[in-house]
Amino acid sequence: YGVAPDHPEVKNVQHKFDEVASDPRFQFIGNVSLGKDISVTELKPHYDAIVLSYGASAEKKLGIKGDDGSLKNVLSAGDFVGWYNGLFQDYNLQLDLTRTDTAVVIGHGNVALDVARILLMDVSTLSTTDIAEHALETLKQSKIKNVVLVGRRGPLQISFTTKELREMFQLPNTRFHTDVDFLKEEFSNHASYISTVRSLKRLTQILEKGIYNVEGDKSWTLKFLRSPTAFVGGNDSHTRFVKAVEFSVNKLEGDVRSSIAIPTGEIETIETGLVIKSVGYRSLPVEGIPFDKDRGLVYNERGKITDSDGKELPGMYVAGWLKRGATGVIAATMYDAFETAEVIISDLQSNKPMLNGVASNMKPGATAILPLLAQRGIRTVSYKDWKKIEARESELGQQKGKPREKLAKIEEVLKILDE
Ligand code: NAP
Repeated sequence: YGVAPDHPEVKNVQHKFDEVASDPRFQFIGNVSLGKDISVTELKPHYDAIVLSYGASAEKKLGIKGDDGSLKNVLSAGDFVGWYNGLFQDYNLQLDLTRTDTAVVIGHGNVALDVARILLMDVSTLSTTDIAEHALETLKQSKIKNVVLVGRRGPLQISFTTKELREMFQLPNTRFHTDVDFLKEEFSNHASYISTVRSLKRLTQILEKGIYNVEGDKSWTLKFLRSPTAFVGGNDSHTRFVKAVEFSVNKLEGDVRSSIAIPTGEIETIETGLVIKSVGYRSLPVEGIPFDKDRGLVYNERGKITDSDGKELPGMYVAGWLKRGATGVIAATMYDAFETAEVIISDLQSNKPMLNGVASNMKPGATAILPLLAQRGIRTVSYKDWKKIEARESELGQQKGKPREKLAKIEEVLKILDE
């Protein structure tokens, strides 16, 4: 649900899930919210070990004027991505793509590029993907022709990966804007540094080539050295749509590898009717688990959960973005999960205490959990149920020439299971 609809090859990871799920020792219990339907404390007596791997579902806060939900068409990238990817909780996202031809996206990471691409892509291309139908219908009416991606630092501090940046230059009928003089100056001032970092070398080559993309009715722009300071609304007190973003103009200080953006005092305004904030995600704590609020992750040592002083919590582990923060592509997350698995195996082999003393292989697991959830009226979803949902989604997709039609309402999904 986080992968862009036009990146179907990335979704091949689902075959890995199927492979794991086919192991008779594996049990999937879906449609259960940790901390709401069941707590970690309630799970503990029934297992030898628990691995928390619930990701980073909240957006990082900008904490600037107008970023308090009072202005319409100021969205977080997480919500926007969830909306076009058919996440239940984002189905009702309020947005209007017909008021403006210019969108501002804040942030220079891959999520910002995903968002920009979806806004600029031809809907005819999108309609052959598994994009959620409600999003496709809204995008068909879209008047957005220009997307401005604004970063607080410079071209050598972008967080894009090469494939995603290259795709931007392959968008049909779309020209590219940037401050070419600044770009060239940065590349020439730091040529020796660039030559030592392979990924950066490729990114700079793509950008250098891309500045000749000057044709097209649509456009995308990379703006550097700008930090948002306020979202400004229109005068109409009823609608209160965003009409502009104020930015402080920055300069870079410190070593190029870790430069920081310092405001120069100059302010610049960009007029826009749609703002998407793409400045990264953060994890949320759950009750009873030591959480590092500053870094937005669970305290851990190679995946073994510890308290804030580094003391290990027996049988408690963590993997994914909750373990190391919201960075890295799927492959990085996989390698990181292997590390957690190795730590669990090594703890078991050395007979370290687990949740209830030394592991006994006798814990009831799901046999104890499922009746408890049923008692609470939770309709759990098994892997077999999921395959039924998947089959229906594929069938619905085929009728429309899409690989899948994601059902975007939980009621519709649960109805299939009760048929
Ligand atoms: P990201 O790569 O960390 O990028 C966040 C961007 O927001 C950076 O440019 C950062 O600038 C900026 N930012 C952070 N705080 C800010 C602030 N207060 N004011 C202004 N700008 C601010 O995060 P992401 O784009 O959300 O992606 C998360 C991870 O998922 C990444 O590792 C990404 O590669 C991965 N991902 C991959 C794909 C793919 O492979 N296609 C797709 C989506 C996501 P600074 O550098 O100055 O902090």
